[in-house]
Amino acid sequence: TLRNIRRALISVSDKTGLVDFAQGLAKHGVALISTGGTAKALRDAGLTVADVSDITGFPEMMDGRVKTLHPIVHGGLLGLRDKHAAAMKEHGIEGIDLLVCNLYPFEATVAKGAAFDEVIENIDIGGPAMTRSAAKNHDWVTVVVDVEDYAAVLAEMDANNGATTLTLRRRLAQTAYARTAAYDAAVSNWFATQLEDKETPPKRRAFAGTLRQSLRYGENPHQQAAFYATGEKRPGVATAEQLQGKELSYNNISDTDAAYELIAEFDPKAHAACAIIKHANPCGVALADTLADAYAKALACDPLSAYGGIVALNRTLDGATAELISKLFTEVIIAPDVDADARAILAKKKNLRILVAGSLPNPLEPGLTFKSVSGGMLVQTRDIGRTTAADLKIVTKRKPSDAEIADLLFAFTVGKYVKSNTIVYAKDLTTAGIGAGQMSRVDSARIAAEKARAVAKAAGWPQSRTIGSAAASDAFFPFPDGLMEIAEAGATSVIQPGGSVHDADVIAAADEAGLSMVFSGKRHFRH
Ligand code: 5GP
Repeated sequence: TLRNIRRALISVSDKTGLVDFAQGLAKHGVALISTGGTAKALRDAGLTVADVSDITGFPEMMDGRVKTLHPIVHGGLLGLRDKHAAAMKEHGIEGIDLLVCNLYPFEATVAKGAAFDEVIENIDIGGPAMTRSAAKNHDWVTVVVDVEDYAAVLAEMDANNGATTLTLRRRLAQTAYARTAAYDAAVSNWFATQLEDKETPPKRRAFAGTLRQSLRYGENPHQQAAFYATGEKRPGVATAEQLQGKELSYNNISDTDAAYELIAEFDPKAHAACAIIKHANPCGVALADTLADAYAKALACDPLSAYGGIVALNRTLDGATAELISKLFTEVIIAPDVDADARAILAKKKNLRILVAGSLPNPLEPGLTFKSVSGGMLVQTRDIGRTTAADLKIVTKRKPSDAEIADLLFAFTVGKYVKSNTIVYAKDLTTAGIGAGQMSRVDSARIAAEKARAVAKAAGWPQSRTIGSAAASDAFFPFPDGLMEIAEAGATSVIQPGGSVHDADVIAAADEAGLSMVFSGKRHFRH
């Protein structure tokens, strides 16, 4: 199943590594054929190249829309050298044994914010057609779409006297179809952003991403993993620049995403915000006037859990905050920017990963989230629900004070980023206790309060910070028991969606305990 490469068609937009590769092919006596720009680059490097237009007898036309779409090219790629030999001969079609093609930079054109017409012009037609032809005929033809595969092809040709193995050709064919699938998905997903209906309908979404990074392993060392960029321009872990530190791990990426999406909820002009995340859940979140204070307050919520955590900030990381963070072992910091002082201070922490995201994602921007299930995938629009003071319905005799309302909204917003069942206690725009991921809401309320007591004890505070706090529940209380747990923890106000058949009982229990309670009308499950 070794197949010799005698003729190669090279048509590439990304000309990285092109000349070296073509020289390697020429050394094996391969005849080179190219489209306009590629042919010029090869001739400039002193290589001998035939033009596609000379072979087809047609010029490249219509601004390059039609260059290689011709039976001479597609017959040469698709023809089975044994079965179709007569047809090839009859029509003067010579076999093309190697196709090297990378496509018009559609994704990059979108990413740089090009206008509609320019984006349309960057939809490659002939390139994907040739790629698919060559990949279909992989039994005879070698197809290369990724610059990273140039070396593997030359290595096989060197080892096999100018031929490639079926094993390699199959792998390259698979890569080729992955590329054309991703390419068309990128086109479709961009189109979705150009429709009147801005909320990209999940049922019409095409799925694809481009490999951003192969990961050392997945959630656990025995799992394999990779990180794909979807081309969405949302600032965050997929688009951030890494300043220093070890390679990001699977868990780092997942947790950093949760952390950054959380602090983006808080307008940096109003407050500095800091979140510390462990295992996808926040262990401390705080707002303050300065970033250093926000970090200190967030850390104080649960200093034990913060060890080895991920820190997200909504303002430029400054020296004072960097000083504080550098005192504790931290896995990742993500911020819109990092100033020179902070860079100098943190440069000593060689393993600390620092990500500069450029700006904050817009929490109200529609988008999609994905989750795999056995044999399928769940797609939904992002949870862009936001609750403001105007949305709140006060249901108890006691009305919350302005300070309580601020803490209620803060706690409810943090709760959006905590695994259900969620109870968040907050005071002075700082989390006092976070109950995450319990199968019973009562347990979440109790565990968060117990943790807050333990933290207060360890810190030598006179009392738990849940006393006088505002408590948020991500979903309604089906019965009064969860609410009773919150009252016992010393909270004085509560926010929850409402809507249980037992709402009246829960409200009566709140009144009995002297709590103020508001309904948000909105639920924030997160699983
Ligand atoms: P060059 O820089 O060699 O002029 O053009 C290379 C690019 O043209 C490659 O990205 C290739 O995929 C693309 N291409 C090759 N044939 C065709 C065609 O017939 N139509 C279009 N639209 N693009 C083509």
